[in-house]
Parts: sequence; structure tokens; C-alpha cells
Amino acid sequence: MRLCWFGDARLGLVDGLNVQDVTAALDVLPSYRYPLPTYDVFIANLPRVEGRIRAVAADAPSMPLTGLKLLSPVANPSKVIGAPVNYHKHLAEVRTDAHLHHDNQAHMAVIHKTGLFLKASSSLVGPGEGIALRKLDRRNDHEVELAVVIGKTANNVSGTEALEYVAGYSIGLDLTIRGPEERSLRKSPDSYAVLGPWLVTADEISNPGQLDLKLSVNGEVRQNSNTKYMILGVPELIEFASAFYTLYPGDVIVTGTPEGVSPIEPGDTIVATIEKIGTMEVKVRAA
Ligand code: MN
Repeated sequence: MRLCWFGDARLGLVDGLNVQDVTAALDVLPSYRYPLPTYDVFIANLPRVEGRIRAVAADAPSMPLTGLKLLSPVANPSKVIGAPVNYHKHLAEVRTDAHLHHDNQAHMAVIHKTGLFLKASSSLVGPGEGIALRKLDRRNDHEVELAVVIGKTANNVSGTEALEYVAGYSIGLDLTIRGPEERSLRKSPDSYAVLGPWLVTADEISNPGQLDLKLSVNGEVRQNSNTKYMILGVPELIEFASAFYTLYPGDVIVTGTPEGVSPIEPGDTIVATIEKIGTMEVKVRAA
């Protein structure tokens, strides 16, 4: 199932080039009282919602995807987890380019030593909201990444069972201001995490470690690789992360970017594609 959020927070079932408005299926969500859950309640209840979607889809209004404002498929993740230098060729380009490593040894180590980082949840937007660049005197880079959405609470999960905890997959853009500061600061401005164009539920992708991913800027291909080149694959990343903290429904892991990162400027148009997920277009502007 391909599920998107669009317009004024409507839930959509993507069917080819069309979207059915299945917002009515959200009626199965429990009602909550303060203090509200600190995880994403849509993702936490996804199996129930999916069942209801199947029931309401036949009578749901349909509209073309073109022209819809696509929002992030996860509204309220408790955390957005980043995997630094998780492709060998990207590690090689970071080590050879001072614009990328800024003489910081922690930016040049393999992921096993560097560990993971967090992006502020407030950095998350959908492709229809666009990217608003800050610090225009500095270099801002694109990074296309497979994004994993956690489906159920995961604590100390082993790699062999890790995929059972995945709700689905999206395309992630991990935008970055280059410079000497901590990654968590440089990668956390509003709109520096783009998730979209929709959530593809995990049943449609049996092997997340064998997906072509590609990104172009203004029609020019800048990144073109396959998730098989990740240093830590999706199961290993879930094992690594859940050994340090509990993963909650809706938590997003952006799994690292392949080689080919390069600067973006206001006015650019990014097109990102991941096999079995889809393609999303994202406009870049000044904040
Ligand atoms: Mn990244």
C-alpha cells in the first residue's frame, strides 16, 4: 500500500497516477487525552488504518496526483535518525574534500566509530513544502537516502529480526549545511529533512538492501547508486540504533547517502527516485 498525506492533512491511497482520499479511515484511530503519546499515532495504528482503508476505498473520491501538495508521510516522529558516511564511495569523497570534512576526524571515520546522529523532528517536511535554505554564505548540500519508518516499539532488536519492526519506506533527503559544527545542528534547520513522496508499506519491499536510488538537480544527475553499497544495511542500522535507545512507531531512519553530494541553491529543482518507492520533486528556495 502506498499512503500519502496531502493538501490540508488529507490521507491518500496512491493508485498509479491517482490518489484516493481515504481520510475517513482515520476514524479507527483511538482518541487520546493529555499527555499525548510521544510517538506517531497514525503509524502506531497502521494495521488498523490499512484495514479500514480497504473498506472505504471503493467509495473514496479519486483525483490526479499531479498538482497535489504532498506532505511528510509521517507527521510526528519522536526522532529522525541519521547514518553518517554509510556508503564507501561517499566516505572516500568526504576524506578527499576539505569542504566536506572541515578537518574534523569525526567526519572521516567509518560509521561503526562515528555512530548515528539525530536531526530535529521539526526539520521534517514533505516534498510539496519545499526546502528553505539558510546560511546562504555557506555550502548547502543534497543527500538522497532510503528512509525507513519504524512500525512498532523496538528495543535491543537483533539484525535478524529487525525488518519485522519496519512499517515502510520512503525517499529521504538529508539536507546539510557544510561547516565545522555538530551534524545535529547543521542538518536540523526547518525543511532540512524531506520525506516522501509517500510511505510504501514494508510488505511491498522484501529487500531494502537492493534498491536503485538516484538524485538530479535541474535535470543533471548528481547521485546514482544502489542500497546494496551501504556499509550498514537496514537490519544492522536498526540493531545499532535500538542498542542505544528505544525506537518508537513513526521514528525515521535516513540510512546514509551515496557519493555525489553537491551544492544546491535557491531556485534549484531536485528530483529524487528510489526503486519500488517512486519519484519526488522538491523545489529549493531561500528561507
Ligand atoms: Mn545523510
